[in-house]
Amino acid sequence: MCDEFMDEGMKVGILGFGGLGQAAALVLQGKRELSWVAVADRHGYAYAPEGLDLKGAIAAYQSTGTVGTMGVPSTQSIADLLGAAADVAGFFLALPNLPNTFFVEVARLFLAAGWRGVLVDALKRTSAMELMFGLDRELAAAGITYLTGCGATPGLLTAAAAIAAQSFAEVHRVEITFGVGIANWQAYRATIREDIAHLAGYDVARAQAMTDDEVEQLLAQTQGILTLERMEHADDVMLERLGICDRHQVTVGGVVDTRNAQKPLSTHMKLTGRTFEGKISSHTFTLGDETSMAANVCGPAFGYLKAGKRLHERGIYGVRTAAEVMPLFVR
Ligand code: NAD
Repeated sequence: MCDEFMDEGMKVGILGFGGLGQAAALVLQGKRELSWVAVADRHGYAYAPEGLDLKGAIAAYQSTGTVGTMGVPSTQSIADLLGAAADVAGFFLALPNLPNTFFVEVARLFLAAGWRGVLVDALKRTSAMELMFGLDRELAAAGITYLTGCGATPGLLTAAAAIAAQSFAEVHRVEITFGVGIANWQAYRATIREDIAHLAGYDVARAQAMTDDEVEQLLAQTQGILTLERMEHADDVMLERLGICDRHQVTVGGVVDTRNAQKPLSTHMKLTGRTFEGKISSHTFTLGDETSMAANVCGPAFGYLKAGKRLHERGIYGVRTAAEVMPLFVR
């Protein structure tokens, strides 16, 4: 098959080795164009230029709480990894966005290290993404191509909205509704805490400060269900930046079942607008119910990483969103 974008073994790293980080490493097992060589979590990092051992990494993380036991324990694992692994061409940041400034702090570590390459995140909050836009010039000057909001929502569904908008002369509404089913909330602690931060009476600082027991107690009160409405989700600013609609015309909400791997509802994006003939209509993009959150986040993240590499090779640096760039399929 002809593929002008063919890559062989781009060396990539994963920052954060919780639910999404481990799923991302699993996704990479089936890919020959990307080679997983580096990983960091809160307590350590591991680096193997010839490729990391996934089973060993998961076993180390599950038994000791860090990949540092098979690599190097560290309390500044990202900075140390960057010092040890200069040849990694791209990273997927599967880190918690706690506090809300954390991703900007991580980006600054890459700047401080003088690193050049491609960074991809699955950032969710509008305010966090706006902070990242503020780093555009610095990242561009440093030779870093940073693609933000490259998960499912924001990410896959926002990009689908940007495509759906093309049929319309005017876009009136974009409604994103997600259903997430996970068997055990502790597999995705940051995701669940960040979701709790959207509930009435909570914010990022309060959710971050909650102990695991407090999260358990909250979930016990709701039978494990989190119902989220009008979330502060960056899909709004991503579509606004492209001139598709104003941010207030974008709504994001959903239901998370933390006790059942089955989705409580089908995840979909519905875009409503007016065509040039004056017809009002909607396009809907629905994800298959069998596709997990991990599949719909990690797949796009690596598709954007591959696209980011193409941009980087052409000297296109700085911050772009998942709605501005078409992801490439990774083989
Ligand atoms: P998690 O809690 O399961 O794992 C977080 C990992 O980050 C852990 O391995 C932890 O050790 C590591 N970590 C924490 N602080 C660190 C530090 N200072 N240095 C290095 N590593 C550190 O998290 P998760 O549930 O997999 O979620 C990861 C992120 O993905 C969250 O921010 C979540 O919001 C985001 N997410 C995005 C989407 C989307 O569609 N855009 C969907 C789901 C999750």
